[in-house]
Amino acid sequence: MIDVATNLARARQRIAAAAVRSGRDPSDVRLVAVSKTHPIEAIREAYEAGQRDFGENYAQELNDKAAALADLADLRWHFIGHLQRNKARMVVPHAAMVETVDSVRLAEELDHQARRLGRALGCLVQVNVGGEEQKSGCTPGEAGEIAGAVESLEWLKLAGLMTIPPFDLDPEETRKHFRALAALRERLGGVTRFAHLSMGMSQDFEAAIEEGATLVRVGTAVFGDRV
Ligand SMILES: *Cc1c(COP(=O)(O)O)cnc(C)c1O
Repeated sequence: MIDVATNLARARQRIAAAAVRSGRDPSDVRLVAVSKTHPIEAIREAYEAGQRDFGENYAQELNDKAAALADLADLRWHFIGHLQRNKARMVVPHAAMVETVDSVRLAEELDHQARRLGRALGCLVQVNVGGEEQKSGCTPGEAGEIAGAVESLEWLKLAGLMTIPPFDLDPEETRKHFRALAALRERLGGVTRFAHLSMGMSQDFEAAIEEGATLVRVGTAVFGDRV
């Protein structure tokens, strides 16, 4: 049996310890509990243990779960999967933040959908800092242009940068990517322009916090293995 409340408490402890170790305030790091493929009951369990930010990867799954959990008014959904423009309409009514904006056209479509609802939407620019073969994330060279486009839009709000490093069992390998994202933020305007750095998952969130993460996306360490 997975005990979500216990897992959450452990993850929060590890987050706080990593923050303190790197001279940061633990309250500057927010845990996003990645609930993709996990059932509604597990999300309720986490909510009851005080968790408010949840991450989902698929538009339809987010839509279904948001409907089933509509009674939890202060729950915040982060969309963290690759988003096709034709699915934006399904995501925007539910998401507090879309973390995976990797093109100007996607930004424009999200802004359009947010305008229709009359509700502002936060977003992160997803950057593929490693430059490896990956289907999502813009190049570091494109990030400034996409951020500028977001800033010119009325309903989409620029909140930071996000990255998903290539899988590596060694957190010291992924640390290089975290460091590269933090350096890119400095080059493009720093923390005043990009409040958040979303980086780090179950394997490596402590290294990410040491490199400046403000949002860590943790699935397995909270909910157990995905089925
Ligand atoms: C699934 C997923 C996570 C969580 O991964 P874990 O290894 O289970 O913590 C984080 N970020 C993204 C973008 C994901 O797709």
